[in-house]
Amino acid sequence: MEIKNFINGEFVSGRSSNIEAVISPVDGEPIATYHPSTIHDLEEIIATATEAQKKWQTTTLKERVQVFYKYKSMLEKNINFLSDIIVRENGKIFSEAKAEIEKAIELCEFACALPQFAHGETEEVSAGVQCTSERYPIGLVASIVPFNFPSMVPHWTIMNAIALGNAFILKPSEKVPVSAQYIAKYLKEAGLPDGIFSIINGGSDVVEMICDDPKIKAVTFVGSTKIAALVYKRCTANLKQVLALGGAKNHIILSPDAHQEMAAANIVASMSGCAGQRCMAAATLLAVGNCDQIIEKIVNEAKKIQCGNNLGAVISKEAKNRIENYITEAEKQGAKILSDGRNATVTGKEQGFYVGPTIIDHATPDMAVAREEIFGPVLTIIRCKTIEEALAIENSNPYGNACSVFTQSGSIASYVSKKASAGMCGVNIGVPVPREPFGFGGWNQSKFGSGDITGKSSIEFWTKAKKTTVKWNPEAGINWMS
Ligand code: NAD
Repeated sequence: MEIKNFINGEFVSGRSSNIEAVISPVDGEPIATYHPSTIHDLEEIIATATEAQKKWQTTTLKERVQVFYKYKSMLEKNINFLSDIIVRENGKIFSEAKAEIEKAIELCEFACALPQFAHGETEEVSAGVQCTSERYPIGLVASIVPFNFPSMVPHWTIMNAIALGNAFILKPSEKVPVSAQYIAKYLKEAGLPDGIFSIINGGSDVVEMICDDPKIKAVTFVGSTKIAALVYKRCTANLKQVLALGGAKNHIILSPDAHQEMAAANIVASMSGCAGQRCMAAATLLAVGNCDQIIEKIVNEAKKIQCGNNLGAVISKEAKNRIENYITEAEKQGAKILSDGRNATVTGKEQGFYVGPTIIDHATPDMAVAREEIFGPVLTIIRCKTIEEALAIENSNPYGNACSVFTQSGSIASYVSKKASAGMCGVNIGVPVPREPFGFGGWNQSKFGSGDITGKSSIEFWTKAKKTTVKWNPEAGINWMS
């Protein structure tokens, strides 16, 4: 299969003569190729999208969302087909891939409901004087997305941005560009006018072109913190509106009074789901006091997991090596490996990139496994004497996506939720993703820019407010704004 750009409603090859391969993590086999894009591809997209947007913004929000009612039914009808694509390009197991499409459907429902959320406001602000605030589209916007959710993360932004009247450019991850091809196909079939949704394939040079072009007015980025910071700085230097979501190192604070079975099952599902390649995955377990029984259950749960069966592949050989090096380094520094996922293979898929569920106990806060984002199915346990000690470790990490507490005590739960330095907190929830209409977004170095990328907060990002102040009746007399 050749992956193509999507320009003015047509699939066309990128203009670079180079050919890049897309490798399936499942078995290391090539599944697609693409020609990276050049500046001329982006210029063509910008020209056609800018024209198309002028017309699109004259339609009403209620009209625009009709496309997404149709699109939603296409996602539902094709859910198994779309999930199979994610399995192949990303390496997830089928149920995880399907959950991604289910989430895309939920995001679509929110976009369809935007007329109920994105209406204007009117108030009589002075005798006889009315002030009205209305939302206008920004124009041409773009989203740059990571490899770990080839369908869900693009859907975080595509539908809200388009429903709110913008023309949209997607820059997929070059590691997983296949799902985006079907997003384009189905949006067109659902009736989206040509030019309103475009795809540009490529790597960092394409990202830089997007950051630099003044005709693209707003950019969202989702990926690692290092690149999020680069994109944020480059876009703001070019006077663009930008929201850049970065990496994560999520903590779970485990109290000995937690429900043992629920805690063990949820914590293992959080650290191992999507092979630990979720920005909301549990990465560090701060075990307060004597949690030995729960940790034993966690290890037993982890050992039930089998690569290729209920645990997918990691994205690349480099990722596998990086994750295994972290484990080896921690072992050398004196941490105890309770479950060891190194050297995992799957029969018949020996060239696939697998790491088994790994539990590292008695780590110290200074170890790399405790501080850095590993992005694999690895849980690092640090033993703490008190909740305060656990919170101090959580608070001192530079990220701030998620933090959960497992306890049966309401006061511990509310204390940890208040004190955690994270944008998304959970109580007895391993993956505390807020669902629509609540917004998704972390704190600290997990997000640069204000507001959240989904939910009601995204309405602010994808629109600009116009305030109009009106007085018709002279008998209202003189007031301060006459
Ligand atoms: P990445 O930062 O390597 O890539 C993300 C995007 O940036 C891709 O489209 C890629 O082409 C582009 N890119 C890569 N290097 C670049 C460079 N030097 N200059 C400009 N652009 C560049 O991230 P990834 O490996 O694809 O995804 C994993 C990361 O994403 C993890 O850190 C994970 O935590 C993070 N993530 C965060 C969230 C969140 O909501 N905070 C969600 C999903 C993933």
